[in-house]
Amino acid sequence: MKKPKIIITIDGYASTGKSTQAKNIAKKLDYTYIDSGAMYRAVTLYAIRKNILNESRINTLINSLVDINIEFKKNKNVQKIYLNGEQVENEIRMSIVNSNVSKLSTIPEVRNFLLTKQRDYGKNKGLVMDGRDIGTVVFPNAECKFFFNAKQEVRAKRRHLEQRRKGNLETYHKVFENIIERDRIDTNRPFNPLKKSPDAIEIDVSDLTENEVFNKLWGHITKKIN
Ligand code: C5P
Repeated sequence: MKKPKIIITIDGYASTGKSTQAKNIAKKLDYTYIDSGAMYRAVTLYAIRKNILNESRINTLINSLVDINIEFKKNKNVQKIYLNGEQVENEIRMSIVNSNVSKLSTIPEVRNFLLTKQRDYGKNKGLVMDGRDIGTVVFPNAECKFFFNAKQEVRAKRRHLEQRRKGNLETYHKVFENIIERDRIDTNRPFNPLKKSPDAIEIDVSDLTENEVFNKLWGHITKKIN
């Protein structure tokens, strides 16, 4: 008998490895993987390019949302994000985007705009999505929810190393500050803040290897799909 498809959500703090795990789980299950953070980053990149990020231009930004088309496409099996037809996978990870994305993500109109798109991906189930409000707001009825946490230093080290590998020479201190600041804004925004859904399984990944985290997730997921 064919196994029923489910929706799996992974929320949590910045740089806890959500995307890596979500990607690996989706691959193993042959599900769609969606990085909701990349969608917020793409809107931020659009706003930076149009110079409509500042407080005084917020209405222009809100009115421009209809002009934003975000898609995920696979190139040689690697998924990339496209903003109005342009592949922007590297651009959305730039430090100027890191510094502005959480502020932009507090705008309810932006969140609602992306919420509709995010829900669309779940229409046929068979989806793994990571972010901040996926288990609480986007898919409150998801069959399997996780919430990742880790010590601040572990997360900053992780992100710093990742950035170095990509040739971004930001200091550890700057990376650390950005992570803390993003978490502060994400947790405190009034509209759909980052918080654990009561039915999500919380995992502290500080002292776990990538494989150990995967095995934990897999243990829970198999109970839901078998
Ligand atoms: O996941 P990532 O760190 O790339 O997300 C970038 C930012 O996008 C987060 O810090 C947060 O401000 C915002 N975000 C959000 N809700 C989501 C996913 C991301 O507010 N579901």
